[in-house]
Amino acid sequence: HADIAMYRAKEMGRNNFQFFEPALNIRTQARLRIEGGLRKALDRDEFLLNYQPQVDLKTGRIVGAEALIRWQHPELGMVSPIEFIFLTEETGLIVPIGAWVLRTACAQNQAWQRAGLGKLRIAVNVSGIQFAHPNFVQTVAAALQETELDPACLEIELTESVVMHDVERTVSTLHALKTLGVHLSVDDFGTGYSSLAYLKRFPVDVLKIDQSFVRDIATDPDDANIVVSIIALAHSLRLQVIAEGVESAEQLAFLHRHGCDEIQGNHFSRPVTAAAMKQMLQEGKHLNPEHRSARPLPR
Ligand code: C2E
Ligand code: MG
Ligand code: MG
Ligand code: MG
Repeated sequence: HADIAMYRAKEMGRNNFQFFEPALNIRTQARLRIEGGLRKALDRDEFLLNYQPQVDLKTGRIVGAEALIRWQHPELGMVSPIEFIFLTEETGLIVPIGAWVLRTACAQNQAWQRAGLGKLRIAVNVSGIQFAHPNFVQTVAAALQETELDPACLEIELTESVVMHDVERTVSTLHALKTLGVHLSVDDFGTGYSSLAYLKRFPVDVLKIDQSFVRDIATDPDDANIVVSIIALAHSLRLQVIAEGVESAEQLAFLHRHGCDEIQGNHFSRPVTAAAMKQMLQEGKHLNPEHRSARPLPR
């Protein structure tokens, strides 16, 4: 990942670039190389999706999965989305790549359902550039049509910064998506700035509690209170709430005790290949009831 690491180092110091002419050259070369690679990656079939199960805390069963993109680079190996999504946004490549993600995730979910593995929901991340594109709703509709997936089995994940960007337009795009029948969730909830008034106006279905609040849930009373408040807020607005980045039995027990609807995180399963996800579904992998903690809700 040398190129990417170097590019990112320069990117972070971008405000100072005028003082470091030679570094700018290196930055540009590394960037051009990676961008060139990204342009060809779709044609060369270098992207793949991993899937991370989402588990219902009432039943302990897998009810969905989040699709997470990876780039299998011919020289750099597996590249994480954190390292390349921002570049695809800057170049506009996120539009065709995002359309590929939508089609692939819908097709995969349909394949699992046709294999008799149950009615699953697939969550797909959508970035701001993609969401703002005039053809976005059409792209979602086309992915559903091509794959014949029940729209209720697709969930679109948007971050607060995406939905708060141009509120009037967001409201109309969200309504168009709801008309298709898809579910909408707010990803990384609590890390951006969202207005509660708008949250009420947006036809979203799910809040995803960001992993930064979940991490210290068992030891930091502030984080614990934030999480409890987000759960209460979600439920008071009749939204579902899912916690992401759940890594331990303690976090899981806390979330269960406080009425969180679903969890996602390495404690249950890391993001895995489609084949491994299929195997989990076939084996009926579920949460051990002990792990959910049978303790009654505190007063
Ligand atoms: P996200 O949507 O918030 O996804 C959750 C991230 O947390 C994933 O990182 C996942 O692997 C990681 N994660 C899951 N469980 C745990 C855990 O227990 N502990 C910790 N520490 N991390 C956990 P990943 O796959 O590297 O994706 C990073 C981000 O890249 C995503 O954050 C999302 O914003 C973006 N992304 C991923 N796939 C796509 C895509 O297809 N399109 C777009 N536009 N963005 C994507
Ligand atoms: Mg997400
Ligand atoms: Mg997230
Ligand atoms: Mg994130």
